[in-house]
Amino acid sequence: MSDLTSKAPSSPTNPRIHFDEWGIQMPQRGEHFFCSAISPWPPTEGATYGARDGMWVFRAESGVCGVLPAGIALSIEEKPVSSLSMLIDGQALTFGGETGRFQEIYTLKITEGSRLLSRKCAFCNQEHAEGSIVIRCPWCGEGYCPACWGELIGERCLTRNCSYSPRKPHYSKSIEISP
Ligand SMILES: [Zn+2]
Ligand SMILES: [Zn+2]
Repeated sequence: MSDLTSKAPSSPTNPRIHFDEWGIQMPQRGEHFFCSAISPWPPTEGATYGARDGMWVFRAESGVCGVLPAGIALSIEEKPVSSLSMLIDGQALTFGGETGRFQEIYTLKITEGSRLLSRKCAFCNQEHAEGSIVIRCPWCGEGYCPACWGELIGERCLTRNCSYSPRKPHYSKSIEISP
């Protein structure tokens, strides 16, 4: 899949909106860009609000991602939105006549050299071994055993200062973390 990116370096685990043939990679934390509905590729640099029809794509310092429509119809889970709206993993977003799906939760396979190798799951305290599967918190990056992440559904990530509330992962494909 090709990516529409901001200046953010592409990573397979960056939050994204997946469309059929393309995707929008969310910006770096604290940044935003404008995505034109007419030619969403590439993002419009330096566009001012209201100058074009499309949407602003945000990612706050906390990691929360959001969108704001500008002159176009935008809906999340088929509900029209008119103000800045936070995106939640697995939600469907319809924009410019296309529907994509937001993904921020990834199931990862720990490989040699992974940052999470030998780190302990914050829930059960077991070390993540090579070949084990973890779910990474999209806001703080902490890795959890899938079952432990499941235990936190409806609760909060256990990292201090992280308020991400885990939900059932929408995507189950695993990704090898590159070192
Ligand atoms: Zn665990
Ligand atoms: Zn977290």
